[in-house]
Amino acid sequence: MFNKYNVIVVGAGHAGCEAAAAAANLGSSTLLITMNMGVIAQMSCNPAIGGVAKGQIVREIDAIGGYTGIIADKSTIQFRMLNKSKGPAMWSPRTQNDRMRFAEEWRLQLEAIPNLDMWQDTVKEVIVENGRAKGVITSLGIRIESDAVILTNGTFLNGIIHIGEKKFGGGRTGEKSATGLTEQLVSLGFESGRMKTGTPPRIDGRSLNYTLMEEQWGDEEKSRFSYTDVAMPTEQRCCWITYTNDKVHEVLKTGFEKSPMFTGRIKGLGPRYCPSIEDKINRFAERERHQIFVEPEGFQTVEIYVNGFSTSLPEDVQQKALRLIPGFENAKMYRPGYAIEYDYFPPMQLDLTLETLKVKNLFFAGQINGTTGYEEAAAQGLIAGINAHQKINDLHELIMKRSESYIGVLIDDLVTKGTEEPYRMFTSRAEHRLLLRQDNADIRLSPIGHKLGLISDERLRKVEEKISNSDKLVEHMKQLSVSPESINDILTRENSSPITQKARMFNMLTRPQINIYHLAEADTDFKQILDQYDKESVEQAEIKVKYDSYFEKEIEIVNKMKKMEDKEINPNFDYSSLTSLSIEAREKLLKVKPRTLGQASRISGVSPSDISVLMVHMS
Ligand SMILES: Cc1cc2nc3c(=O)[nH]c(=O)nc-3n(C[C@H](O)[C@H](O)[C@H](O)COP(=O)(O)OP(=O)(O)OC[C@H]3O[C@@H](n4cnc5c(N)ncnc54)[C@H](O)[C@@H]3O)c2cc1C
Repeated sequence: MFNKYNVIVVGAGHAGCEAAAAAANLGSSTLLITMNMGVIAQMSCNPAIGGVAKGQIVREIDAIGGYTGIIADKSTIQFRMLNKSKGPAMWSPRTQNDRMRFAEEWRLQLEAIPNLDMWQDTVKEVIVENGRAKGVITSLGIRIESDAVILTNGTFLNGIIHIGEKKFGGGRTGEKSATGLTEQLVSLGFESGRMKTGTPPRIDGRSLNYTLMEEQWGDEEKSRFSYTDVAMPTEQRCCWITYTNDKVHEVLKTGFEKSPMFTGRIKGLGPRYCPSIEDKINRFAERERHQIFVEPEGFQTVEIYVNGFSTSLPEDVQQKALRLIPGFENAKMYRPGYAIEYDYFPPMQLDLTLETLKVKNLFFAGQINGTTGYEEAAAQGLIAGINAHQKINDLHELIMKRSESYIGVLIDDLVTKGTEEPYRMFTSRAEHRLLLRQDNADIRLSPIGHKLGLISDERLRKVEEKISNSDKLVEHMKQLSVSPESINDILTRENSSPITQKARMFNMLTRPQINIYHLAEADTDFKQILDQYDKESVEQAEIKVKYDSYFEKEIEIVNKMKKMEDKEINPNFDYSSLTSLSIEAREKLLKVKPRTLGQASRISGVSPSDISVLMVHMS
């Protein structure tokens, strides 16, 4: 460790790892400081990556040149493409992961990056001079200077862990909380808030009776997050499903009077969509049972994650209730579930680059910004790492658009609207989700990664090849026809009405029951053509044919909104002098400092008439 770096990243969680890797890969000398180098990239809660909307984010990270997808692929114990029966905008890759291997692969990845140093210590203070971040001071009293600082402290800032009536300081179970930093940032004028989250108990898998549970295997045809050819484990491990019942609920209720949630000892708001089991039985009292996913923590370990049973009830109540779940009669607990409260910084204090508005060259990424989830954290880390490097080298900043990525939606939502409860990504948050699919993240974003220097020429060439291959295939389908004799049996089998005369393959493929392989089955010449192309190009061609008209309409909408989205506002614009704006709009615009008219229009409290005033004034 030296005493001067270009970029210092604080915290080696999902955000910190991506941030440090990006800054170093772009050429900045980077120091990653973390409290405990034994727990780099720890999956604090479930050993899984991706899922609905989150899987799309991971593919976007990969397309720009981040590592979360690669690391997830290397540690996959089970892969599933969720929502395959719906349209492609909903297809969402998700993996179960080997928790220890995930962390190890990240560590090895970081160690392989030149320009990247690591240091185990706790950062107590950010050095700020003339409104600019200049480095950090650690708990060992060491002063390390830098041109930019990225804070990715996760759930550690003044973290308090709750189990029943017991509470103690901690950033995660078994780890200390980080103190001092919030107070310093508040003294600099930052606003902070409090949030909470929770996690289920972990069990010794040898004590479970799996014959009483339903098996759940991953997809037979395994896919991957990364667009690179990273080697994946060949085996997969089974997960199981079981259910709670009345008896489990009755036992859990006996702990309610000691529950830190119900007695009001926890003040922070928790993630609405990951409720604890006590919350579920309290809020949905009419439900007789709740689903429990029994998930292995890795290939070799016997430890089991009890997904759906997050709780902060007393540990003896947790143990008693668990043993009433089918298959858990003899369950031995390794670690109790717990809740954690921590500080976050409302993200309206950030620019779209994730630099803070108050202190220049200081960036925040991850759970510190009020988000929840590894994927959301990793995406912010990547963007903060890129922008820190770009800023200190006077290079163009990277602002992701809502119309081009979920990452753009995430950051724009945070910065423009703020969040009072842990923010997680959903497909419904993206107005252009038809365009933001997992299958085309490489097409959308690899040029950005390549321009920055994070994606190689070879990778970009592969993306260009995928585009041209899929175009060629679509062209073939426009030219080629199938006869009633060759396809009618297949149509009848697939419950699609037979044809009476020759039809273009392109038109046949627009039928919902028909896929591209049915066309190959009907026509051996087309099969030979199809065999020459890789799976991703074939899938892309099929999606293009089936959904092109929807995509075109969506692109039209994006283009219509482009005028507003591209209309830049001077960051020093004096809203206070524009008295025709409502008072609320003036206050909010001054606080957020929107970059564009489009961003201004999304700020809550800024009405369409305020936008008209701005438009008139700007023109
Ligand atoms: C109990 C619990 C339950 C959770 N449940 C869910 C859930 O159900 N669903 C979900 O999506 N997400 C859940 N999460 C959240 C998920 O773990 C986080 O969203 C994700 O890990 C955030 O990544 P991050 O990089 O921002 O922070 P973290 O992964 O928390 O990493 C922060 C890192 O910073 C380091 N650090 C902190 N302060 C300092 C300092 N001052 N100096 C040096 N190093 C420091 C820490 O050691 C750690 O390595 C849960 C988290 C916890 C703790």
